[in-house]
Amino acid sequence: MQQKPKFETIAIKSTENKFSDSTPVSTPIYLSSTYKRNSDGSYTNDFVYSRANNPNRAIVEESIAILENGKQAFAFSSGMAAISAVFQSLKAGDHILLPDDIYYAVKRLMEEVLKRWNLSYDLIDMSNIEAVEKAVKPNTALIWVESPSNPQLKLSDIVAIAEIAHKNMALCAVDNTWLTPVFQNPLELGADIVVHSTTKYFGGHSDVIGGCVVMNDEIIAEKIKNIQILSGAVPAPFDCWLIARGIQTLKLRVKQQSKNALKLAKYLESHPKIERVLYPGLESHPQHLLAKKQQKKGFGAMLSVLIKGNEAETTAIASKLVYFTLATSLGGVESLVEHRKSVEGVDSPTPYNLLRISVGIEHIDDLIADWKKALSSEN
Ligand SMILES: *Cc1c(COP(=O)(O)O)cnc(C)c1O
Repeated sequence: MQQKPKFETIAIKSTENKFSDSTPVSTPIYLSSTYKRNSDGSYTNDFVYSRANNPNRAIVEESIAILENGKQAFAFSSGMAAISAVFQSLKAGDHILLPDDIYYAVKRLMEEVLKRWNLSYDLIDMSNIEAVEKAVKPNTALIWVESPSNPQLKLSDIVAIAEIAHKNMALCAVDNTWLTPVFQNPLELGADIVVHSTTKYFGGHSDVIGGCVVMNDEIIAEKIKNIQILSGAVPAPFDCWLIARGIQTLKLRVKQQSKNALKLAKYLESHPKIERVLYPGLESHPQHLLAKKQQKKGFGAMLSVLIKGNEAETTAIASKLVYFTLATSLGGVESLVEHRKSVEGVDSPTPYNLLRISVGIEHIDDLIADWKKALSSEN
């Protein structure tokens, strides 16, 4: 007969999971860092230790892999951790081609961290295929694509760039954060790797930071999985739970956001105070035809506008908006606006009169009225 356990022991044993065979409709959050072995030392399923694998993470990874038409996906604690994992899979001496207006933290990562590890890079205009072809070196191992680019919404022809990469025994990776698999499937277009900042549209509510790498190649998958588990930049179970919940409404949200973005872009393009609207869905976009071909299902919900005015006038307009919160980031249900030049610094090629807009799911009439008021001279 076992003696009655003491308070401390009861406190632990009585709060064990007793409902593991129940089937809740909404996935529970599996906070457990470790999993029980069977008496013979084996495990009932894949879960051993949460850095290596976790049910909430497995759900997110499987879901994003399927949505991107990939075979494998690995989740990370941020988009930058996911991007770092791809760079870490290269070897010292490798050369990388990056778009010249790439998400600026990636440029800083290369310049301030990875250059010391003897990875070199060149920034090039990826909307110009000849420039890409010319920039390839014998040691180029990776061509990185962001299409549309941030914040100038330049497009890159993914089919053509993947071909150039493969001709030179290099890989092509696409940061698909801005379009999500609802609007663009880079793996179908020949890319080898897709990365996402799931912080943005996948999460969708500006309340979680996350990232993901997707592929359909065993060798690449093995490398990224090793880096994920051994470097350990894994997402917390609750973060995965939030992203999984975001995925459930991803398509509904981004379709509405994209619809709103096109209407807003058309309105702004017709406004006398706007110099130019950068949005691939407009016929005035120099790569509108490529957008129609490559982004079969839509144009996305990000746009930038160039204001007719100086920097002070530009930022003043942004601060007059009521439904567009002055904040960095994108992809949430709420509309955001940002003066990118101030964020990126004086060296950035972003024009001083550019405002980047992340369009949310508010009613389009209110969003247009907000811009109309902010652009009018009476206030
Ligand atoms: C936000 C973003 C990132 C970085 O993701 P984090 O989740 O902030 O680390 C990378 N690429 C693009 C295109 C982004 O918008």
